[in-house]
Amino acid sequence: MYYTKDTTLFLNGKFIKAVDATTDLYSQTLHYGYGVFEGIRAYNTANGTKIYKAVEHFERLRNSAESVNIPFQYDTDELIRVTYQVLKKNNLSDAYIRPLVYCSPNMSLTQPKEVFLMICAWEWGKYLGDKLLKLCLSSYQRPNPNSVKVEAKVTGHYVNSILATSEAKVRGYDEALMLDMNGTVAEAPGANFFFEKDNVLYTPPLGHILPGITRQAVINICRELEIPVKEKSFKPEELEEADSAFLCGTAAEIAGVESIDAKPFRKSWSESIGVVIQEAYKCQVLDKSFSHVII
Ligand code: PMP
Repeated sequence: MYYTKDTTLFLNGKFIKAVDATTDLYSQTLHYGYGVFEGIRAYNTANGTKIYKAVEHFERLRNSAESVNIPFQYDTDELIRVTYQVLKKNNLSDAYIRPLVYCSPNMSLTQPKEVFLMICAWEWGKYLGDKLLKLCLSSYQRPNPNSVKVEAKVTGHYVNSILATSEAKVRGYDEALMLDMNGTVAEAPGANFFFEKDNVLYTPPLGHILPGITRQAVINICRELEIPVKEKSFKPEELEEADSAFLCGTAAEIAGVESIDAKPFRKSWSESIGVVIQEAYKCQVLDKSFSHVII
């Protein structure tokens, strides 16, 4: 349930009830998947309700729009202010926030004359992160960067993600792990991927993946904690020698991986680097200090 009769959202400069919000069925976004969006979390922190990495998310929204030529005229500070109001009006603290920039009616394959902005939010459970994921290598590849702007969060790209996640679930797994067009590991349908080998973390470089804000937060945490982290391309076979792995994303947070194609990792999650990152990330989103002693 994303909304009730009492839910308020922000649509084109106004706060209105979600049940009263309408859209045009001739929108270019609905027909061709030509729109951009974000997925953001707010947490009930020690210092009140906080939107995690708000600037980074709204800047990525702007970059997504600009990279696919969707006109974007919103100011980041204003968007953040409006989003806090959406949370307040709905009495939300632990929440998921969804800004969507969508286009006016246009049945041709040209730039839209007008764009619209919607920001809504719904309640999202407190940080969990205790369930380990069973992944499978997907038969679907991530899109070719010469076909779409892979670094942009474009609505239409998520057909690829839906196909991969649905396939994984039908096959009895929790989530998919996708390769790129070169057969190297890319990312999950809605999260980035890290693996641990001999006390070093590895993650695919930018180029075929969404530049995750959580991925960057993990890299920063590693630097702070002096955990070696490297961006490199690797084939799925290399994962057979890995010690542990995790997915990371705004919604996934830091989610440990139990197995890939039913092959478990050699280290238990509780002994992995991932569990340290998970704890540090949790402290960061909740505005708490984190201290960790590496023995
Ligand atoms: N990859 C894809 C394809 C995604 O949809 C997401 C979620 N936005 C991520 C990675 C993780 O990105 P972030 O950490 O910014 O949520």
